[in-house]
This record gives sequence, C-alpha cells and structure tokens, in this order.
Amino acid sequence: MTKWVYSFGDGLNEGRADMRNLLGGKGANLAEMAANGLPVPPGFTITTEVCSAFYENGRKYPDELKAQVDAALQRVEQSMGLRFGDPEAPLLVSVRSGARVSMPGMMDTVLNLGLNDQTVEGLARSSGDARFAWDSYRRFIQMYGSVVMGVPHHHFEDVLEQFKRANNVEDDTAITAGQWRAIVVDYTHIITTHTGTDFPTNPQDQLWGAIGAVFGSWMNPRANTYRKLHEIPASWGTAVNVQSMVFGNMGDDCATGVCFTRDPSTGENIFYGEYLINAQGEDVVAGIRTPQPMACARAEAGQHPMETTLPQAYAELLRVRSILETHYKDMQDIEFTVQRNVLYILQTRNGKRTAAAALKIAIDMAREGLITQEEAIQRVPAASLDQLLHPTLDPRAERVQLTRGLPASPGAAAGAVVFTAEECEARAAKGEDVILVRIETSPEDVHGMHAARGVLTTRGGMTSHAAVVARGMGRVCVAGAGGIHVDYAAGSLSVGSHTVKEGEWITLDGGTGAVYLGRVPTIEPVLSDDFNTLMGWADGVRRLGVRANAETPDDARTARRFGAEGIGLARTEHMFFGPDRIGFVRQMIIADEESVRQKAIAALLPFQREDFASLFRIMAGLPVTVRLLDPPLHEFLPHEAAEMAEVAQALGRSVEDVRARCAALAETNPMLGHRGCRLGLTSPEIYAMQVRALIQAAVLVEKELGRPIHPEIMIPLVATKAELATTRRAAEDEIARVLKEEGTNLSYSIGTMIELPRAAIQADQIAEYADFFSFGTNDLTQTTFGLSRDDAGSFLPYYVDQGLLPRDPFVSIDRDGVGALVRLGVERGRQTSADLKLGICGEHGGDPDSIAFFDEVGLDYVSCSPFRVPVARLAAAQAALATRQKAASPA
Ligand code: PEP
Ligand code: MG
Repeated sequence: MTKWVYSFGDGLNEGRADMRNLLGGKGANLAEMAANGLPVPPGFTITTEVCSAFYENGRKYPDELKAQVDAALQRVEQSMGLRFGDPEAPLLVSVRSGARVSMPGMMDTVLNLGLNDQTVEGLARSSGDARFAWDSYRRFIQMYGSVVMGVPHHHFEDVLEQFKRANNVEDDTAITAGQWRAIVVDYTHIITTHTGTDFPTNPQDQLWGAIGAVFGSWMNPRANTYRKLHEIPASWGTAVNVQSMVFGNMGDDCATGVCFTRDPSTGENIFYGEYLINAQGEDVVAGIRTPQPMACARAEAGQHPMETTLPQAYAELLRVRSILETHYKDMQDIEFTVQRNVLYILQTRNGKRTAAAALKIAIDMAREGLITQEEAIQRVPAASLDQLLHPTLDPRAERVQLTRGLPASPGAAAGAVVFTAEECEARAAKGEDVILVRIETSPEDVHGMHAARGVLTTRGGMTSHAAVVARGMGRVCVAGAGGIHVDYAAGSLSVGSHTVKEGEWITLDGGTGAVYLGRVPTIEPVLSDDFNTLMGWADGVRRLGVRANAETPDDARTARRFGAEGIGLARTEHMFFGPDRIGFVRQMIIADEESVRQKAIAALLPFQREDFASLFRIMAGLPVTVRLLDPPLHEFLPHEAAEMAEVAQALGRSVEDVRARCAALAETNPMLGHRGCRLGLTSPEIYAMQVRALIQAAVLVEKELGRPIHPEIMIPLVATKAELATTRRAAEDEIARVLKEEGTNLSYSIGTMIELPRAAIQADQIAEYADFFSFGTNDLTQTTFGLSRDDAGSFLPYYVDQGLLPRDPFVSIDRDGVGALVRLGVERGRQTSADLKLGICGEHGGDPDSIAFFDEVGLDYVSCSPFRVPVARLAAAQAALATRQKAASPA
C-alpha cells in the first residue's frame, strides 16, 4: 500500500529534511525539526504524490488516502489530548500548502480549522477567553471563505472596517467577544450571498475542503505564472501540511512572528525579524498592526522588542536560532508562535535573501567554518550577481524627499508611477521604466512586480509579500510607506498636500527606504570585498576561461574590471558605424571604380588600426579575438535622402545612381545572404584592410608595451573547408606583407566561428585550417532551428508558454539539438587537431545553465558581455564543482 501521509511531532517523525520532493519543503523541515527535539506542534503531511495522483486521475484522491488521514489525525488528537470537532475541547488545525520549493501564488494557509458554532463555545470554555475564541472563529471564516470558497477578501475587510468606524474602535484587540459574534454572523451571510452555499460547519468537510483547495491552487493562474517565471515543473506537485494549532492571540503572554537567523537584506550576522504580541500569524505579514523588532539592539525609541516583552521565549528562540543554523548550515527563515510564554516553531526554511546577503552569508559561513569554500561558491546563484551590479543613487544629486518607508529590497530605481500590475506590465512592454505603487501586494501582482523597476507599498513590513517577493526578484522595494495615501480610483498618491499622479516619476532608494520626487541620478555600484573574495575562490576552482565580447574601449575596460581574461569576440562591424567612418564605408560599398573603392578602404584603415590598438592596450597582452566583417553590406547603406546625397557627392554620382545601387544590394533573406566570409571572399580587399590594420596595431602596441601581443583573427560564417582555406591564405599573405614592411615578426592565430550546422558537422575538415574555433551559438541556434533571430520574438514566447520548448533557445542553449552540434564540433575538431583552442561567443556564454553545458563538453573558454563576466566566472566554478561531485559519486 502506498504511504500517502507522514506524521510528525510528539515522538513520531516519519519524514526527514532530505524528503522534500515527497513532503515539500515545509513538511520535510517540520519533520526534521521535530526529530531534532524542537518544539513543533504535531501534525502530518499529505505527500506531493497525492497531488500528482489527484491530477492524473481527473481530480480524484487515491482510495487509501481518507483512512490514512483519519489515522494521522487521531494521532494528533491523542498527543494534544483534544478531539477534532469536540464541542467541549476541540482540536483545531492549520492547513498549509508546501511545494518542494517555496512558491507564492498558491493557497497558503487556513488557520483555526475545526471551528463551528458549537466548538467555538468549547474553545471559549477551555481557553477561558471568549473574546479569543470568537476572534479565532471569525478569522477562520474569513480565511476559509476567501482562500477555499473564493469570496473576495475585501468583503470581510469592509464589514470589519464599517463595524470599527460605527463603534469607534481602532484596534482589533479592543473588539469584544459579543461584537466578534455579531461579525461572525455577518461573515457567514457574506459567504452565503457570494457562493450560494452555507459555510461548512462539519469539521471533516472543512478539512477536506481545505485540502482540496491546496491541491486545486497548484494549478491556479498565479501559481502557473510563478512556476513559469522560475522554471518549476508542474509535475512536482504540492504537499499539504495539517498541523495542530497553537495560539499567539490568547493574551499579552502570547505572540507570533517571523524571524531570520541573519539579516536577509545585508546578510549581517544579526538576529532579525518582527513579531506582534497577542496576534495570529497572518497579522504580521498583513501589516494591519505595525510589527515590533526582535532584539533590543534593533529597536528604536518607542518600540517594544521581544527581548524585553517576552524574555523567556526570546531566549528560547535564540537557542533555536543557533540549533537551526548549525543543523541546516544556512540562513533560516523561521515562523514562530508563543502561547502563554511557551515557544513553538511552526516553520523553518532556507531564507530568501538579496544577492548581497547571499554573498555575505556564504563568505561569512565559510569563514565561520560552517560550510566549505566550495559550498560557499555553490550557495550564491550565479545569475543573482547581476543584482550586485545595480546602480545606487548619486549622493551628490539634488533630491526632494517625498516620504520614507522600509528599505525592503536594495538598489535604486526611478520610473513612472502606476497603480496596477496590468498597467505596469503594459508600460514596461513598451520600454517605459515604471514603479508599481500598491497599498499592499498580493500574489496577483507578481507579474507586475516583475515588469517594474521598483515596488512601493504603503502597508506591510520587511517580511510582507512585497518585500519578500521583490527581494527574491532583485527588484528595488520600499515597503510600508504609511505616510502615503493611495487613491486607486483617482490614479494618484498623496503625501500631505503633495500629489503624484499616474505617469509622473518618482525614485526609490531600496537601501534606505526613501521615496523621492522625480528622477534622481544613479551611480554604478562598487563591488564589496566579499564579492572579490568569492570571485577569487571561484577562479580557483573553475576550468573554463572567461572572456568578454567587447569592441569599444569602454566595454573592454568594464570587461577587465570584472575580471575578463581577454576578448573572445570583437565585432568589427560595430566599429564601422562611427560618424567619422560611415561615409567611407558607404563609398567603399557603392563605388564602381576600383580606384575610388580602394581610396575609401584606405581611408578606413587608420580608424581600424586605432580601434584595434586601443583594445590591445587595454587588454595589455591578454588574448584579443577580432572577427572580420560579418553582416551584409546593405546594413551600412544610406537610408535618408540627405545621406544618399552625401555619398553621391563624395563619389561624383547622381543620387538616383546611389539609390539604384542601394536597391540592388538589398537581399530577401540577408541573414542567409551575402555576409560573413562570403563577403571576405567576394571583396577580399575589405578583409585585407582589416588584417593589415590589426597586424599594424599589434606591432605598434607590442613595441609600446614591451610585451608580446598575440592577435587572434576570426573568420565568420564559414560553412566549408574551402572558404576557410582561401580566406586564411589571403590573410596570411597580407600578414606576411605587413610584417615585411614593418621588418618584424609577430605570433598570431587564425581561427573560425562555428555557427552553421555544416561547419559543426565538417569540423574535422575545417580544423585543418583553424588554430581555434569559437562557437557562434546565436547563429548556430538560428540556423539549426531555422528560426530567424530577428523575427522569433513574435512566436517563441508562445512556444515557451505552451511547453513546446522548455526555454527560449536564444537564451539558454538547446542541449539536445544545438548543443549536440557543439559537442560534435568539439569532438571532430579535436580529432584533427588535439590542441585546437575552443570557445563560445554567442549570448549563451553568459547564461549559467549553458555555461554548465560548455564545461561539460570541454570548451576552453566562454565569452560574454562585460557585465555578465562575474556571472560567468561563478557559473564556471559551479559547473566545475558539479562535474567533480558527479565524478565522485557517479550514481
Ligand atoms: C553568434 O552568431 O553566436 C555570434 C557570436 O555572432 P553574431 O551574434 O555577431 O552573429
Ligand atoms: Mg554570428
């Protein structure tokens, strides 16, 4: 018989932390904590396999499930000494979802399940607190009504707000038992009105309703969006955790809170979190009351840290903090409740953190001896390093502060104010910078937050939805800016008498929580010592070299600053567009007369020589791969009448002539047209000029710097051995001429891009004439799939949405198709020439998953855009470690 249900707590712990695929993260950790003697209320986990079976069998549960749930529930009843549905002393439970990775968007939590008009009286009697019992009941109806029965949350809020206003009550804690009883009646009416059915009074019906809602929410649109954004397969499913309730809202010796074992924003090793006295879990994140800090050291005047209000539970929590960090060897995000001064741990998980915090925590933990340097390297998601490179506000810039909130997620962002996720997405799609402003965010806003530069909320603390989600996404966030009044209907926000309308700009500083009017200039980030330390450790283990794609001096300098070990691709065509050169380029293309054409080419030579010389100077002896002209000539042609007239005048031709020549050069399918080495073969003088400029520049800089410069000349878009052989010979002849003129010698290499399927297949032949290969995975993806790089945007997202492709193959290498050609190219190339140098310079060179693949197939280096260099260094180290681990445990 399949085991569908696993118990935890009170001595029977059937799960473990390493069973998260089956029990979900929450369930596995509850079992692990309970097994380690931590105070976890007893409960049970319904496995993720039930979720999968549920969807495979037309939303039906496995036959044995009911009996297994009944048995597990009975166990909880026994250990709590209470019975589910008992009108005298009822057991109440919470029901929560729990996938193997934490996943906002799904049904989260129903608390106090098991209450009805009879059991509420029992709870009142057994707790001796009728107010607490009726408050718990109304919370249950509200939660169950909205998350299980689908009644919009605000209907309940409206009733409560009206009641408070009518009775002149500000704080929920001032509402009496009798008043809550009346509100309960209103709440049940709301449910009947909206759903046409009554609120379920039978606790068993309530339980199965909640379990069904968790499984149902696995496939809701919000969860689907989140899964898509984070590449979580639908087949994983979610688990359901049913756990005995403990209460943080039974009086002033009770509390509830969320804490992190280290600061999730900065990574500092300080106990960090928020709690509320006399409250239930959702109160902390809902932002209805302002949470208080945990530690005295973190408290400001007028605040009431837990350290002083509940010293005994606080001391116990400190002990738990250290046990959990030592046990999990990672920063933990802990949910706790204090019931009558006794601490209970409801959840622990690896805490979400900013990239800066991930870095600091990894380095600190390695230094503390909690983890190894290698583990530290693996702890920092390579792609997240991007976030550390985010700008901050220029401290010298003038600014007008509008208000202040909590510094929820770092970085600085400016943009136009919008108030809905939809508007945010629509404007961002048009290229606008936008700031999403909400009273508070919910999972429905996730897509808007993703599209926004920054998020500003008026309610909620550092652990609110907005803060946690923005931090995870690397978006700037200022949360809980209570001084702001948002008027959704009017499309404006105001602070005192100052109003900002939709579309007007504001700037957020996620590091301080400040909100400024207008656009405040930003500056580039300075990388911390920890960053350099991690990069150093990564460099110590990686096998792949990391170069940058760069052709301008600025890019080359950035590349070096970020640790590039050379230039893997300088696209020379980008050098042709400068205002001082484009005229000569156009004359070169359009001229009929050989002498005029030669003159134009000769005029370009000094520009190119200086371009190359500055790259050599900046790279100071590191390898520089210069690719000869690639794109079709028509890309350089004049379009405007004035430009045509200019070329016509320079050539002494009529404008009509020039126009006709431009028309003649147009191609139907330029990406497969007269480009790459085809151009070098039919117009050899262009490549000859480039080679001449390159060799002259190398000779010059070699003399200047007094160190060897080794240029690498790369021939693009080669399909046949003959193409490369001919182009190579021509280049070598030109090099010999230049070196003879210069009266010197120089070592150089000539290689090719492998960016056409035929080149990969014929790599053994092509390698006869190549000193190196650089895989051009952009064109190789385009030509392998027969997918236009420039047009795929209109249908590729559909493919990814529909699961026809797992990811955009221009972003992450298609291992099975394009990747197979790369593998073949590597094998065949090396068959011919064992020391053939192999690199990749398509966009995939900066994508961590693709880098893992390139490491696996044995390339020598990757080349990516300068800002991705740190990402590539770390990803290459992680790939090397993964390979080592695989080799150590081949199973
Ligand atoms: C490639 O095709 O992968 C490449 C690097 O060249 P480009 O993007 O310039 O075509
Ligand atoms: Mg290419």
